[in-house]
Amino acid sequence: MNIHEYQAKQLLKEYGAPVSDGRVVLRAEDAKTAAGELDGPLWVVKAQIHAGGRGKGSFKEESAGEKGGVRLTKSVEEAAEETRKMLGRTLVTHQTGPAGKQVNRVYIEDGSGIEKELYLALLVDRVSSRVSFVASTEGGMDIEEVAANTPEKIISFSVDPASGLSAFHGRRVAFALGLEGAQVKQCVQLIAKLYKMFVERDMEMLEINPLIVTDKGDLKCLDAKMGFDGNALYRQKDILALRDETEEDPKELAASKFDLNYIALDGEIGCMVNGAGLAMATMDIIKLYGAEPANFLDVGGGATTEKVTEAFKIITSDPNVKGILVNIFGGIMRCDVIAEGVVAAVKEVGLQVPLVVRLEGTNVEEGKKIINESGLAVIAADDLGDAAQKIVKEVKG
Ligand code: GDP
Ligand code: MN
Repeated sequence: MNIHEYQAKQLLKEYGAPVSDGRVVLRAEDAKTAAGELDGPLWVVKAQIHAGGRGKGSFKEESAGEKGGVRLTKSVEEAAEETRKMLGRTLVTHQTGPAGKQVNRVYIEDGSGIEKELYLALLVDRVSSRVSFVASTEGGMDIEEVAANTPEKIISFSVDPASGLSAFHGRRVAFALGLEGAQVKQCVQLIAKLYKMFVERDMEMLEINPLIVTDKGDLKCLDAKMGFDGNALYRQKDILALRDETEEDPKELAASKFDLNYIALDGEIGCMVNGAGLAMATMDIIKLYGAEPANFLDVGGGATTEKVTEAFKIITSDPNVKGILVNIFGGIMRCDVIAEGVVAAVKEVGLQVPLVVRLEGTNVEEGKKIINESGLAVIAADDLGDAAQKIVKEVKG
């Protein structure tokens, strides 16, 4: 789960990391008061969406002279005016995709004088199974670009969880960032705070781009992107409270409410499968026969009729879906439960596209009987290959 920059900065502040003062604004009429509470002489107006690259992004229907989702203004009035212009509009960045994201919140921040822009990130490195630091002198820009063109400018190392973090790690980052004098001490302190926060709050990713050296020579976190481990949210109630559901795919959101493992993709064949491995194999075989899956969906081992019905509704709510493949191997899951769920769902939401069902395993005969007696136009399949070929043929002709 991701949170907004202004929420991430609040958390950074709680852990004692240096950030600017700022105010979040949800309604244009509150902008002037919010900006008036900040010192100036520079006010930075920042669109809050769960995507980076806002500064270089552009609004849909942008008028001449407008400049992206991060704007530097010189007065309270100007900050309020830019806030008003941003709210409710759609910002497109290289991370949002062409559809962009609607800006529902704007953060007005006390502007900083910048001497240097640096890059710092913490993440869970899946290869070493450790928390890793990534640091670069090339901050403020797209780190993927730095990685592609000048990889030697990115320094990365992991922390041994047994011995934990020490000042040595902080000095290593300071050296990588080319810091000097008092900045080194600041960096060591910052690294300790960030690491503590990262571990305590079950983060997956923390990116500060840019980390700046201010015109006064101090370190400050000018931008912050945070991602949290979804499996740990049960013990991070105050983080969960920061969730902004308008930023999430509505299908994935609905799926998470019913504890379904669902990931939206952009193909045309909706898949309902039990077991992550079988779900992946199903997606592979759909591709093998020349079509693309519209989603990954593992309904899980203990799915009820209600859960299967919800899963079916989510699949059919995707306008790209031109056919559905149900592929169930009833081990823990019983085929008759799946069949009942499919029939109930089709009766409730209707069936606008071809549906191929392949059932195998526990109670398979009862399952097939339920489907056959339902009178629904379901195409039965014998095995995985047969099922994939049948649905691809239905969709592609
Ligand atoms: P992003 O484009 O979504 O990554 O948004 P950032 O928060 O990183 O802002 C983009 C750029 O705007 C930064 O790299 C800075 O160059 C600039 N910027 C942001 N805040 C300030 C500020 O307080 N003062 C100045 N001078 N520039 C800023
Ligand atoms: Mn940034």
